[in-house]
Amino acid sequence: MTGNQRDGSTMRGRFAPSPTGAMHLGNARTALLAWLACRAAEGTMVLRLEDLDAARASAAASEGLLDDLRFLGLDWDEGPDRGGPHGPYCQSERTPLYQAAVERLLASHDAFFCACSRADVARASSAPHGEGGDGPRYPGTCRSRAAGDVIVQAARLGRRPTVRFRGQDRALPTSFVDGLHGEVDPLPAGLDDFVLCKADGVAAYQLAVVVDDIAMQVSDVVRGDDLLSSTPRQLALFAALGAAPPRFHHVPLVLAPGRERLAKRTRPPSIADLRSRGVTAEVIVGALAASAGLVPAGVALPASALVSGFELAQISRHPVELDATSLG
Ligand code: GLU
Repeated sequence: MTGNQRDGSTMRGRFAPSPTGAMHLGNARTALLAWLACRAAEGTMVLRLEDLDAARASAAASEGLLDDLRFLGLDWDEGPDRGGPHGPYCQSERTPLYQAAVERLLASHDAFFCACSRADVARASSAPHGEGGDGPRYPGTCRSRAAGDVIVQAARLGRRPTVRFRGQDRALPTSFVDGLHGEVDPLPAGLDDFVLCKADGVAAYQLAVVVDDIAMQVSDVVRGDDLLSSTPRQLALFAALGAAPPRFHHVPLVLAPGRERLAKRTRPPSIADLRSRGVTAEVIVGALAASAGLVPAGVALPASALVSGFELAQISRHPVELDATSLG
C-alpha cells in the first residue's frame, strides 16, 4: 500500500481501545477521526486492544468493540482477529516485550526499583499533584538506592517492587508540536518518576503504549484530548528507548449537552444501545461527522463517503456537545 504523506512514507495509524466497557459516542468519534486520517492517507490501520487492566477488561467487551467498529464501517488491516506482522495485537499477550523494555531501561539507569506503596508516596510527597493529575509527585524515596536493597525491603513488606522511570532527571523539553494544537507545554512542573511496571508485574499504560507504538511502527497517533498530558511522558520514553516518536494529533472530546464530559454519570447511549434501537451506522456516522464540522447536521452517510479529501486540520479544535437524543 502506498501512502501520500509529505515525506513519502506510508502512514501507520491505530485504534487502541481499552475493552473495559461498551463503546460510546465519544470513543466512536475518536475512532472515526483516526480512521479517516489513515484512510485519507492510504495508510495502514492497526487495531490494538489495550486490555492490561485484568479486573476491568473482558473478552465480551473486546468482541463488542470489534463488532461496533465493523458496524460503523471502520476497518483495520492488522489486529487481533486478522493478525499481522507486529502481533500479537492484545496487550495482555505482549508481556515479554514490556519486560524486555523494563530491563533495558533499568540497565541504562533510566529506571529504578521502588519499594513504596501508593500510600507511602502520598504520605512522603510534599507536592500535592504530580504531572497529569495522576496523584502526588514522587518524593524520590528509592531513586538513589541499590536495586538489591529495594527488592529485599519490598519482599520483607510482603510485596514486589514497582519500577519507575527516572523522569525527574531528564533535561528534556516537555513541549511538543501536536498536529491539532500546535506547540503544547502541558507539563510546567516537568516529568515525574512515573511507574513503568506495577507491583503485580503488569506494565503501566505509559510503558505499554510506547513499546507497542514502537514495535507496531505507528507513525501517527490520533486520540482524545484526555491523553494530551500523557504525551510528554511518552516522548521521554521514546527517547530513552532510542526510538523516534510518532506524530501526535489530539482530538477534542465529546461533551454531553450541558458540557459535561461523557461519562457513566451522564449515561450516553453506547453504540450497541443505538444499534438495538434501530439507529443506522449512517445516522451515527453523520452525527459524529457533523459534531466535527465535516457535514451539516442531520446528514446520514457511510464513513467511506468522508474519506476523500479528509484532513484533521479541518476539524473543530474545541470540545463539542453531542446530543444523543437527536439520534432517534
Ligand atoms: N487505551 C487508551 C484508551 O482507550 C488509548 C491509548 C492511546 O490512544 O494512547 O483510552
